[in-house]
Amino acid sequence: MKPAGLFWRLSPVSHRIRGELVKISVIGAGYVGLVSAAGLASTGYSVVCIDTDNEKVALVNRGISPLHEAGLGDLLSRCVLNEGSLRTSTEYDEVLDTDISLICVGTPSNSDGSIDLSYVREAAKSIGGVLKAKDGYHLVVTRSTVIPGTTMDVVIPLLEKYSGKKAGGDIGVAFNPEFLQEGKAVQAFFNPDRIIIGELDSKSGDILMELYRDMPAPIVRTDVATAEMIKYASNAFLATKISFINEIANICHRLGIDVYEIVTGLSFDYRIGDRFLNAGIGFGGSCLPKDLRSLVHVSSTKLDYPAPLLRAVLDVNEAQVLKMVDVAERKLGNLDGKRVAILGLAFKPKTDDVREAPALRVIGVLLEKGALVTAYDPEAMENARIVLPEGIGYCDSAAEAIADSDCVLIMTEWDEFRDENLYKDKTVIDGRRALDPRKACALCDYQGVCW
Ligand code: NAD
Repeated sequence: MKPAGLFWRLSPVSHRIRGELVKISVIGAGYVGLVSAAGLASTGYSVVCIDTDNEKVALVNRGISPLHEAGLGDLLSRCVLNEGSLRTSTEYDEVLDTDISLICVGTPSNSDGSIDLSYVREAAKSIGGVLKAKDGYHLVVTRSTVIPGTTMDVVIPLLEKYSGKKAGGDIGVAFNPEFLQEGKAVQAFFNPDRIIIGELDSKSGDILMELYRDMPAPIVRTDVATAEMIKYASNAFLATKISFINEIANICHRLGIDVYEIVTGLSFDYRIGDRFLNAGIGFGGSCLPKDLRSLVHVSSTKLDYPAPLLRAVLDVNEAQVLKMVDVAERKLGNLDGKRVAILGLAFKPKTDDVREAPALRVIGVLLEKGALVTAYDPEAMENARIVLPEGIGYCDSAAEAIADSDCVLIMTEWDEFRDENLYKDKTVIDGRRALDPRKACALCDYQGVCW
């Protein structure tokens, strides 16, 4: 008799994991979920993406990306419209007809900095409820970033409770962190620098090995909590590099030294390199700030270790962005009634994501001080309008935002902001080293935030 379910399908002799047999459900159609779903669908798996957001589901089913992410639109139209390998749904029942579920829902911060696991809990409960009716094996993989211990202490108990089945028996469990960078997420999906598989048991890990077998990347297999911590350690290290170079930049600035020349000198040391050493206004986005906060929170409240270095990384970052306002006040004096143009609302270029974007914080402070704010971003205007207060003049181009301004703040280094000629005779504060200071100084009143 043929054994039921995935174990048979993934037997090494069959090599039929790709294409015809394995079906994957991806829970959450956000940056991580939708890119994973489209990536897997484009390599021959049959994928259904489940999200609670009706609008998102409807858009994706028409082959349209609800997110600005290079290459994602093309991938969706190919997989959804041409090949039929990907569809989206709001119905968890779809999990039943799949072999592997990837949990990719959000894990935002609570107000005290702790991680909000409510979406992960909901997803685990819903998958468990469906698996109750399933015959045979199913692998559940958490891809959302979660505090070490979450898969074992939260996800598995909920899966077991709602399915009535045993993890490590009929249900396989793994944690497989996502390392994508927004703006390059599709490219990163097909060219990961490493794949981390945190496995409850070797069968769960073997299935993920098979899933990723054609990926050109080293694979590290660990237990579940170790994999969860690898993700936090990666983000903590990247954030530390940014706050480190901003601290060096603040010292250099006082000494009249250009920190970017320092980085050139540092970068030839192979132990240091030049990545994530762009001095400026610090990190934002949906990952680094909230992941650092939740790691510091869990460490200090549950593990009796206050994590002083990581706290300092957050403190440096908090202060850094507000230097834009300090410099503006030095240039213009009292900001009440001054016209300030904000270029860039996304937390970085090539994305429409404004979560914890430095521009939002600066705009809030400028409005409190009575400044008249105009703003432009090539992709993030729609998302920014949802979260920003009333009273901002949204513009259709950088030139329009700049036109009547007393001062221009460059908050995101989009390519279209890099033309020094845009700023002729204006006062410009560059938060991202978007401009060449020598060229800019010849055309306008130019000041870097920390150079
Ligand atoms: P996101 O907010 O863009 O997407 C989450 C999606 O999950 C949303 O579409 C939401 O509607 C959906 N959702 C919420 N609850 C649901 C439920 N119960 N069932 C089905 N769908 C549900 O989030 P994201 O940026 O894709 O991040 C997801 C996770 O991946 C987070 O833990 C994040 O920390 C991590 N991560 C994000 C990135 C990144 O660059 N965005 C990179 C690596 C890891």
